[in-house]
Amino acid sequence: MKLGCVADDYTGATDLAGLLRRSGASVKLHFGLPKAPSDGLADIEIIALKCRMEPVDQAISACTDAAHWLLAGGAEQLYWKYCSTFDSTAQGNIGPVAEALMAVTRQTQALYCPAFPENGRAVFMGHLFVADQLLNESSMKDHPLTPMSDANLTRLLAPQVEGSVAIWNRVDQKKGVPIPDATHIIGDAVEFADLEFLIENTPANVLLTGGSALALPLPNHLSIGSTLDIVNPKPDSRAIVLSGSCSLMTQQQVAYYVANNPSYQLHPESLGEAAIEDCICWLQSLRPSETPLVYATASPEAVRAAQCVLGVAEAGAIVEHAMGQIAQKAFEMGVRQFVVAGGETSGAVTHALRVSEVMIGSEICPGVPWVFSGSNSNLIGLALKSGNFGSPSFFKDALALLED
Ligand code: ADP
Repeated sequence: MKLGCVADDYTGATDLAGLLRRSGASVKLHFGLPKAPSDGLADIEIIALKCRMEPVDQAISACTDAAHWLLAGGAEQLYWKYCSTFDSTAQGNIGPVAEALMAVTRQTQALYCPAFPENGRAVFMGHLFVADQLLNESSMKDHPLTPMSDANLTRLLAPQVEGSVAIWNRVDQKKGVPIPDATHIIGDAVEFADLEFLIENTPANVLLTGGSALALPLPNHLSIGSTLDIVNPKPDSRAIVLSGSCSLMTQQQVAYYVANNPSYQLHPESLGEAAIEDCICWLQSLRPSETPLVYATASPEAVRAAQCVLGVAEAGAIVEHAMGQIAQKAFEMGVRQFVVAGGETSGAVTHALRVSEVMIGSEICPGVPWVFSGSNSNLIGLALKSGNFGSPSFFKDALALLED
């Protein structure tokens, strides 16, 4: 193994795996810390955790365990992957985990770059943009779990870490100014060439952290020379779409899909076991050739109303529990293709389906590949989509890709 990555959620990990797989490298993706040691055979191994929302201590412990596992498997380089919209709570966990991983690797600095140019995420003068909007003016301001109210990455990161924070801005990069001397460095990047610059000019004592795109130049940089073709195995065609993301793009994707397909809306305020059972009965009433959508996706106003009644964490947990139960039941009914919208939601569904390791198939859109686990009649295909990724027709596009 040359590259070992720790990701803070499941869609982020599949995003990273899909991008790294473009290089032709062999990529193994694990959901949760594997029980057995690594055989070290894959060029790249990724451990997906569900630690974005965890208390800091738990996130640090899960991530350092994952780092030790990867290093014991031979990883020459470690990478800490988080969201391209820098989703974090006020306490972390991006900064505290970076400091903990630096202690593991004995690196003395950390570089942070969430830019993902193909998906419109850019960092300029240390400020994060989503397309032409500052992060805090984008729909991320209304995220149910991690509303982002500032685009200034220094202001977001500094309270999370003990060491000093500086910006390696793009103007200085163009002049050839080396990485600043602070402990935590935010790297500007607007286009792919900037990410290549950062990877080529960051010394080995610096821990690499960022969105998925900063890792794109790494296979080349680490001389990983594999040329494996990307193939999609063929799971049984029965499929379901599960959406627990409330991101703006997901709202559009749900509206697009609802117009032409059987759909069922879950409401967190009344989502007890009986309501889950009602949804399952509805699924059982459909023809196997139909691909239903079950969604809790709602507008920011509806999300706030649910959170007022239930609390933020409880509203999220109720929906995630329901999505897990419904996924399990769908599997028992013969469903083998799962299109899931939402990072936390994907974590819940993957966990409920007991998927622990996947192979990486082709990308549906930048940052969302099909991934596959199991074999024969238990072969499952999963398309795990981060909230704001994809175009309005994403659900249909994902399903169509496996039909071809
Ligand atoms: P994204 O990838 O868009 O961030 P996530 O699944 O990570 O999506 O996060 C969305 C969170 O919102 C989940 O915890 C989910 O359970 C929760 N959620 C979904 N629908 C609702 C709703 N109607 N009201 C409140 N919370 C909701």
